Amino acid sequence: MKILSKSVARVQQSSCVACGCCLKVCPRQALNIWKGSYAVVDQGLCVGCGKCANECPASVIDILPGPRLRPP
Ligand code: SF4
Ligand code: SF4
Repeated sequence: MKILSKSVARVQQSSCVACGCCLKVCPRQALNIWKGSYAVVDQGLCVGCGKCANECPASVIDILPGPRLRPP
């Protein structure tokens, strides 16, 4: 099992307004807007830095503790 990171961002998708602000500040390019509807996090890229959560005007991003594991 590979440890991806100690924390990861999670978007409350039903409340996301798809403004794209989080995409602009992510140092890992881990966020995308899915079909213009809401932001999604690539957990393989996210390092849990929290920049997106600080930037989100709707406060719909949570940084969750890990670690998260992935089968080899
Ligand atoms: S926590 Fe950091 S790395 Fe993860 S999606 Fe947000 S800005 Fe990107
Ligand atoms: S900044 Fe917040 S509201 Fe805007 S796209 Fe990202 S998660 Fe959604």
